[in-house]
Amino acid sequence: MLIVQKYGGTSVGTLERIENVAARAIEAKKSGADVVVVVSAMSGVTNQLVEYAEHYTKAPDGVAMDMLLSSGERVTCALLTIALINLGYPAVGLSGRLAGIITDSVHTKARIEAIDTKRMKEELKAGKIVVVAGFQGIDEKGDATTLGRGGSDLSAVAIAGALNADLCEIYTDVDGVYTTDPRIEPKAKKLDKISYDEMLELASLGAKVLQNRSVELAKKLNVNLVTRSSFNHNEGTLITKEESMEAV
Ligand code: ADP
Ligand code: ASP
Ligand code: MG
Repeated sequence: MLIVQKYGGTSVGTLERIENVAARAIEAKKSGADVVVVVSAMSGVTNQLVEYAEHYTKAPDGVAMDMLLSSGERVTCALLTIALINLGYPAVGLSGRLAGIITDSVHTKARIEAIDTKRMKEELKAGKIVVVAGFQGIDEKGDATTLGRGGSDLSAVAIAGALNADLCEIYTDVDGVYTTDPRIEPKAKKLDKISYDEMLELASLGAKVLQNRSVELAKKLNVNLVTRSSFNHNEGTLITKEESMEAV
């Protein structure tokens, strides 16, 4: 059993929350699964980095910009790895480069071309929890690239596909996918299960709970996705190939 878990910005927004993520990853590991954890930058960090660059120019150099933007996820990746090891669990933190995420050279909105899974597989085989910095890869020159805003979802799905994971869990700050944004509409209903196409429809209407491209890739690679809250143990929403519902 192999599980890929992805934690978004709010879920890793403080040092305490990173510790909570460590506990959840350990829970999955203790259940007997191999675990890969993909992390976002701590909430607000990516926006702050964009602001720093825009202090100089609205059109920063792409190569330098991706060096800058990719640093946010590496901070979380390193901190979570430190927290896990401190709790007594062998873990390794991998940047996009070390995780083998190869992209094209379209800086700040690169597309993943291939994933060399060798290092991730070796570390899993050695019994480690593998922590990967989301949202990033490298191009053929070796320059850092980023995948577009919200791109850690895409990293998680692509890794789940490449490793043939049984499940890709997207942990966020709401309990799952709702009929509409639950922060705006209190009467929004949580959906237990929806199809990729239904999720794509919701995403195109602005449901940023899952990045559009990540749902497209999940559909293409047939990755079972679950969206859940990192703050409780409620059941989330399963996004899968079956057409199931009429509620949307
Ligand atoms: P993360 O940082 O974990 O990637 P995001 O902020 O990208 O989280 O996405 C989660 C947010 O998506 C929720 O806080 C919620 O406000 C918003 N959202 C918009 N539409 C929906 C929807 N239909 N169902 C669930 N969440 C939604
Ligand atoms: N940190 C990046 C962003 O804010 C990627 C992500 O969180 O998925 O867009
Ligand atoms: Mg997101």
